[in-house]
Formats: sequence, structure tokens, C-alpha cells
Amino acid sequence: MPDERDPQPTSFSIRCADAVELVTDYLDEALNPADLAAFQAHLDECDGCTIFVDQIRMTIQLTNATNDQRLNIMPPDFDRLVAQLRTQGNRRQDPN
Ligand SMILES: [Zn+2]
Repeated sequence: MPDERDPQPTSFSIRCADAVELVTDYLDEALNPADLAAFQAHLDECDGCTIFVDQIRMTIQLTNATNDQRLNIMPPDFDRLVAQLRTQGNRRQDPN
């Protein structure tokens, strides 16, 4: 009888915990070929990690976009708009 109490996965099979640790390197394209193959093989079989990678990638893109365009996000009359909204809110809440 072969001893298979603890069967090993195939050589490039990794668990979710391993995949999660590789995500940042994967997105940085810093994985060595063996880890990259294992990671992509895991994504092919694991929807959870595929979604996780997409979310991390989107977060990174959003962060970069925010850093680049921070000055363009606020309208030039932002302070005036806030003051206007605050005045309207006060009037609406005024019981008299
Ligand atoms: Zn997984």
C-alpha cells in the first residue's frame, strides 16, 4: 500500500493563502516563472482569488488615478457650493 495519508497536490498547485501572498508581486509582474505559472493555474480554478485579484487591481488603479487627478476632482467653486448647500439645509431644518 502506498502511503497517501497526506496526498501532495500537483507541483504547481497552490492554496488560496499562497495565492493571496503572491497577488501584489503578480500585479507588479515580479513573480518568477514558476510562481507565475502556479498563480495563474490557481486563478483558473478559483473564482474567489480571481475576484480578489480584480479588486486589488482596481484599488491600485483608483489610488493611482486619485493621486494624479486630485486637483481636478474638486470643482473650482467647491467652497461656495458647500456654503450654499449648508444654507439650504439650515433653512429646511428651520422650524419657523
Ligand atoms: Zn484561491
